[in-house]
Amino acid sequence: MTLRLPIPSVLLLSSLLAATCDADAQTKVVQEADITAKKPQIEQIVNEISANRIDAYIRKLVSFQTRHTMSDTTSDTVGIGAARRWIKQELERCGAGQLDVKFDSHIAPVGRRISRPTEIVNVVATLKGHTDSDRYYVVSGHYDSRATDVMDATSFAPGANDDASGTAAVMEMACVMAKHRFDASIVFMTVAAEEQGLYGATHWAQQAREKNLNIAGMFTNDIIGSSRSEHGEIDNKTVRLFAEGVPALKELPETTRTLIATGGESDSLSRQLARHVKEIGERYVPGFTVSIVHRRDRYLRGGDHIPFLERGYAALRFTEPNEDFNHQHQDVRVENGVQMGDLPEFVDPDYTANVTRINAAALASLALAPAAPSGVRVRTAQLENDTSLIWNANKEHDLAGYRIVWRETTSSVWQGSILTGKVNAYTVKGKSKDNYFFGVQAIDQDGNVSVATYPLPGQ
Ligand SMILES: [Zn+2]
Repeated sequence: MTLRLPIPSVLLLSSLLAATCDADAQTKVVQEADITAKKPQIEQIVNEISANRIDAYIRKLVSFQTRHTMSDTTSDTVGIGAARRWIKQELERCGAGQLDVKFDSHIAPVGRRISRPTEIVNVVATLKGHTDSDRYYVVSGHYDSRATDVMDATSFAPGANDDASGTAAVMEMACVMAKHRFDASIVFMTVAAEEQGLYGATHWAQQAREKNLNIAGMFTNDIIGSSRSEHGEIDNKTVRLFAEGVPALKELPETTRTLIATGGESDSLSRQLARHVKEIGERYVPGFTVSIVHRRDRYLRGGDHIPFLERGYAALRFTEPNEDFNHQHQDVRVENGVQMGDLPEFVDPDYTANVTRINAAALASLALAPAAPSGVRVRTAQLENDTSLIWNANKEHDLAGYRIVWRETTSSVWQGSILTGKVNAYTVKGKSKDNYFFGVQAIDQDGNVSVATYPLPGQ
């Protein structure tokens, strides 16, 4: 998406910079072109993502016969135990000493889809950030699989698309991105027991919440392997990105209540993140569309982003555009001449690689950029046709300034922007706060830009 930069903003920008340049001579002047230009480091990451390696990861995961959460854990070749030991080994091998790879394990008691106490093990690889390591971005796929009967722990359950595709994407990103430096930390996570009820992701998200971990964004990749619908149509240029608006919590926090009261239900943390992922991802994967769906997930389905949403974090789900339900959650068999089952022959590794590239570009961009501004307020003390915004100063040492973005209230993407330099208050003249939604982004000296923060009303 290209932002329309109105001509007068250039004048405003230069007058502002004239006022701030002397005071802060070390700050590089960032132009709009620096922000929208592709960053060489991110291009390199995107180019290194390999469809061949993703294909090999998927086939290896399928070779374990079943990765059912209650399957064998002692064999070296069959079952979920062998699968997770292989994932851990691969991440340790490719991480070049940069990835901290750990099992995150807990025992799940007997439940609706757990017939005996079962050890649930996530494989978690953390790439520590260099300047802002307490800010985290999380990307996940689930490595467990299932057959038709969700309690069947022995039948062949290849799970090539659901979700070896997402697991392979996470492994590929971890291996490629481990060779690069980022400001913030990135957690590459392959989780278990998604099919039994999101156990692995819930356990990790709950620990994060208890530690009050600053997770600035989470993506799950679940069913990103096939570009072919059940009717045979191919769409290998689109991925759906599910983004919840206002979380359906039993008790609404005060900030959420204010969000709704000001019409900001499409400016939730998850929707801001989705808007950003679309803009960045499409820039680095030309011809590919991130189709945002303004929903938590598909009907009758859920995923590993939900435990994060339920704990107040911004979280999104990537899923292919048209699913073929003959190839999900099905015993491998031929029925009425139709091959059923989640087999690798139905996976398109080139497509999965492009979805992985979208993920990687967005993650790299987020982890290189400053944090989204905090304490953003729109001044509402008087009736006026301008929009006055205030916010807290970002703390990054390489901060260059801020960008104010806006859109009409019926638009879902930003339509205009203005650079402000290193200030903490700004008035957008001639654009009424009543007629537009605004956001404030932080920018560093390399032109990396943060997710936008929605202003809540303030004096
Ligand atoms: Zn799944």
